[in-house]
Amino acid sequence: MNAVLFRNATVLDGTGATPFRADVRVVGNRIAAVTRDPSRVATDAAQVVECAGATLMPGLIEPHAHLSFVDQATPSAFSAIPVEEHLLLTLKHAKLYLDQGYTSCFSAAATKPRLDVVARNAIDRGEHPGPRLRAASVQFTVTGGVGDLRQMHLDPGDAMYTLPCDGPVEFRRAAREACREGVDVLKIVPSGDTSTPAVPSASTLMTDDEVAAVCEVARAHHRVVAAHARSAESIRMCVRNGVTVIYHATCADDDALDLLEAHKASIFVAPALSVTVTRLRDAGKFGLPSSDAMRARINADLERTIATMKALKARGVRVLPGGDYGFMWNPHGANARDLTYFVELLGFSPMDAIIGATKRGGEIMGMPDDLGQVREGFLADLLLVDGDPLADLRLLEDRAHLVAIMKDGAFHKQPATQSPTH
Ligand SMILES: [Zn+2]
Repeated sequence: MNAVLFRNATVLDGTGATPFRADVRVVGNRIAAVTRDPSRVATDAAQVVECAGATLMPGLIEPHAHLSFVDQATPSAFSAIPVEEHLLLTLKHAKLYLDQGYTSCFSAAATKPRLDVVARNAIDRGEHPGPRLRAASVQFTVTGGVGDLRQMHLDPGDAMYTLPCDGPVEFRRAAREACREGVDVLKIVPSGDTSTPAVPSASTLMTDDEVAAVCEVARAHHRVVAAHARSAESIRMCVRNGVTVIYHATCADDDALDLLEAHKASIFVAPALSVTVTRLRDAGKFGLPSSDAMRARINADLERTIATMKALKARGVRVLPGGDYGFMWNPHGANARDLTYFVELLGFSPMDAIIGATKRGGEIMGMPDDLGQVREGFLADLLLVDGDPLADLRLLEDRAHLVAIMKDGAFHKQPATQSPTH
């Protein structure tokens, strides 16, 4: 069987343990041995990678990916692209994520019903390079919810990136259809958003029975529900009904914080900081509308999100970096920026930010015993980094520092310094 030996690596294993020198042997698609005593590691038949102290760490995991977002300013741009071109762009982004060291992505919604599913299947069959992908449905929301772009005087045709549903019957049908098509993740939008003044973040749009209907379908099909939930009521509703992934959680009140804490063993929170931080910082560069009122509103949401995340971390809730990449001002590929935001804005240590993007990532992918750690028996999704990410997280943003990228035991990026196979 194919074997690779990473010799003399500084292992940053994803668990929070202090990095240590070791040799790491990969056999097939799994890590066969991590040993601090190199004399005990068999080197026969192995491709040897001389690490010379470079950092060997788990591949990064993005918990809020939108591979079919197309780096444009508005969601209506997502709908304007024909599905054939859209699939090519989705696959292009999938390769980009792997190029940037992201070996897994948990999708937070596709923009057409089957884009994620088809991309995931092509990746799994080895037909196209890309990360392991938990494929999502399009977003389900209510009439008038975030992403309902319809206008009375126009026929929307199929040009919607969000599917409006009203009442539990319609939500159940949409969820069942998405399950039939093969999604892993059902995405709902129960609250308003920073970007939509008519339905601000603090508003709650879906009703309890609508959220319950989607969760009921997910349970029957063994799928996961993820929610864009900014309002306090939407967070409470999601947790009560069994939503697994809460995005944003901006306006959590004490009751919502208590509920999230009580369910911390089964839920994940990902604030998606970057899309908001960069919207404030870079809007001018892209000619985006940016009135004082709009900036004040976005800034207030960001401040609330930061306070909420600090409170959740203090309560031991799993908070993961990941930032809604795929807009013009927040383009795909820059995802590792979120780790630095976690340190600068939320007070995470670099180690905690890395745990969030590795070990916690394995958990959100539903593979806590297989993914997200450099550990014997785990899948060989590995990054070899030229330098110490704990000293400078920005190394992870620059692919020039990613010396080698391995997914499932195979190199996506071959290291330059290696011995030929024996
Ligand atoms: Zn999103």
